[in-house]
Amino acid sequence: MTTRKTDVLIVGAGPAGLSSAIALKRRGVARVTVVDREPEAGGMPRLCHHTGFGVWDFHRLYTGPTYARRYTQLAKALGVEIRTETTIVGWENAHTLAYTSPEGTGALHADAILLATGVRERPRAARLVPGYRPRGIFTTGSLQRFVDEHHLPVGQRAVIVGAEGVSLSTFLTLQKAGVHVAAFLTDLPHHQMYFPYAPGKWWFVDLLHRTPIRTNVRISRILGLKRVEGVEITHTGTGQREIIPCDTVVFTGDWIPEHEVARKGNLVMDTGTRGPQVDAAFRTSEAGVFAAGNLLRGAETAATSAQEGRFAAQSIAAYLQGQPWPERRIPVVLEPPLLWALPNSLAPSDAHQPGKMDFRVGQFVENATVEVRQGRRVLHTQRFRRLLPNETMHLSGGWVAKINASGGAITLRLSD
Ligand SMILES: Cc1cc2nc3c(=O)[nH]c(=O)nc-3n(C[C@H](O)[C@H](O)[C@H](O)COP(=O)(O)OP(=O)(O)OC[C@H]3O[C@@H](n4cnc5c(N)ncnc54)[C@H](O)[C@@H]3O)c2cc1C
Repeated sequence: MTTRKTDVLIVGAGPAGLSSAIALKRRGVARVTVVDREPEAGGMPRLCHHTGFGVWDFHRLYTGPTYARRYTQLAKALGVEIRTETTIVGWENAHTLAYTSPEGTGALHADAILLATGVRERPRAARLVPGYRPRGIFTTGSLQRFVDEHHLPVGQRAVIVGAEGVSLSTFLTLQKAGVHVAAFLTDLPHHQMYFPYAPGKWWFVDLLHRTPIRTNVRISRILGLKRVEGVEITHTGTGQREIIPCDTVVFTGDWIPEHEVARKGNLVMDTGTRGPQVDAAFRTSEAGVFAAGNLLRGAETAATSAQEGRFAAQSIAAYLQGQPWPERRIPVVLEPPLLWALPNSLAPSDAHQPGKMDFRVGQFVENATVEVRQGRRVLHTQRFRRLLPNETMHLSGGWVAKINASGGAITLRLSD
């Protein structure tokens, strides 16, 4: 197998990978190679044919494909090598990744590697929903490929499982395909769809009025043998069951990081995010291997992923210039209902770079106080009027300076 060399190898040509590549080139790194298994670069936005991209990073409202093209063009113009239809399949050693492509197999060796492989939605089978396997069952991703890439007919009447940000995207795709949405389903007591852009807010309010949002319910069966004929839903409190007739079911959200490459590299994984464990500088447990974007947790906006890619580029550039890899990392552990935090480990050197820490919860909590401890020492407390599931919350990071660099784990919990 032939091995080619590059300075930085980036796996995943989505917003995180491409923005990182652009930032590395601007910092003077000579050879930056980005690989992606898809036929075109751009990542997930390439398939999201609605607007909602670019406001924070380009100060323009773009559709997903235009946004994806913008990043791809910028990267190419700066001399980033983009290799599409190239799937990373494993590790030859700590800095060499094996790939397969239509031209054959090979290996790429790099001084530094950035994993930016994104997330996927958990499909029906993994959600353990009983029933046969009729036609008409999608995730948002597979629906968008069906509608926007292959221009195939979907159905007449759909149920959307999930009522969070991405469920809105599903609604738009179904609307475009001429499919009536019978209901959004969520097992939580409220929906979690928040519309971030002032223009178009009327559309969102109107949508919420027109489309039933069934809260506190779970999908307990899919009906139909050859084609979906309906779904059975069960009320989580009363156990009462009900049938909603439909010919299409779309499972949205419930993200799983695309962590296969990270796992194959034996990187330490975080049990909360299910992505690789990283410190505040996007360093994984393996020297010279970084991770950024939605691979770290599902799922943020494209702009957040792109920003993480740029931050990771700073750390990669510092590493290439000889900055030592931290010898020790302090794990961050959470108590329920807190689900995950990012960064989910802290290097003692992070104590000198106070940033913020993101976290999410699994349920709605009013008037909460989040407490950060190291052993018995309380490092920080922060009040929140409301904690919302499927929304990222931010802890200010000044407390990081108070960490005992040789101490034990940092704990995040809700205090009474
Ligand atoms: C339906 C939907 C609608 C959305 N709508 C919006 C919106 O309106 N506005 C917004 O800001 N954000 C939106 N997002 C979120 C946005 O798409 C993501 O935040 C963003 O794409 C994440 O960027 P990323 O680079 O981390 O990952 P991705 O964009 O997912 O890119 C990861 C890339 O890695 C590649 N890859 C994975 N494994 C391998 C491998 N082994 N070898 C080679 N390549 C590999 C994949 O092919 C992919 O191209 C939406 C997401 C979805 C799913």
